[in-house]
Amino acid sequence: MAPTHGRASTYSNYKCRCDACTEANRLRCMEVRAKLRAKPFNQIPHGTTTGYSQYGCHCEACQEVGTASLREQRDKRKLTPFDQIPHGTSGYNSYGCRCKVCHAANKAYRLELKRAKAA
Ligand SMILES: [Zn+2]
Ligand SMILES: [Zn+2]
Ligand SMILES: [Zn+2]
Repeated sequence: MAPTHGRASTYSNYKCRCDACTEANRLRCMEVRAKLRAKPFNQIPHGTTTGYSQYGCHCEACQEVGTASLREQRDKRKLTPFDQIPHGTSGYNSYGCRCKVCHAANKAYRLELKRAKAA
């Protein structure tokens, strides 16, 4: 049976990426998100990454797991093989790389900041 276009279900079930289905899916995501964000505080799963990222809750418990998972991501990044790191300021800051290229980029970046502040 041919899928009906312009439906979020077609987007997810048939992996259709036509304009109508993409738009329907986008609207559904927005709706879901808005609903999640409108949830009463006591119905949010606090202390989970879901509470933090999906519900956008920044209570103490959610913030804690949120920052922990961010830290985890950063730690994982530090295990990135050398040749896969985007060397430069992001290599220095996000990947913790201290190679010559990253060092120089970071130094230049800091100088730039200083100059911007002084101006
Ligand atoms: Zn479609
Ligand atoms: Zn929370
Ligand atoms: Zn580097």
